[in-house]
Amino acid sequence: MEGQHQKFSERNGVLVQIDHDLCAGFADCVAAAPEVFGINDENLAIVVDPDAVDLDTLLMAAESCPVSAILIFDEEGEQVTFDT
Ligand code: SF4
Repeated sequence: MEGQHQKFSERNGVLVQIDHDLCAGFADCVAAAPEVFGINDENLAIVVDPDAVDLDTLLMAAESCPVSAILIFDEEGEQVTFDT
């Protein structure tokens, strides 16, 4: 599928996915977890190192995105959110 960037985190057992159709480059995710997220040449977020932080920090960073462009899935493909 086009329009997304994703990396699997071995440490946390989750897939971190950024929907590039939604991402507007606000960089809140980079502020929340600078080791995990970066911004590419097109001003879109990319996953740099999803193993750099624990799961709570990943989920918090996903929550921080104002357009909910960051999705986190467990190994069964179920979406993981801060509330679950
Ligand atoms: S916070 Fe959301 S919109 Fe902003 S750069 Fe990160 S993924 Fe993109």
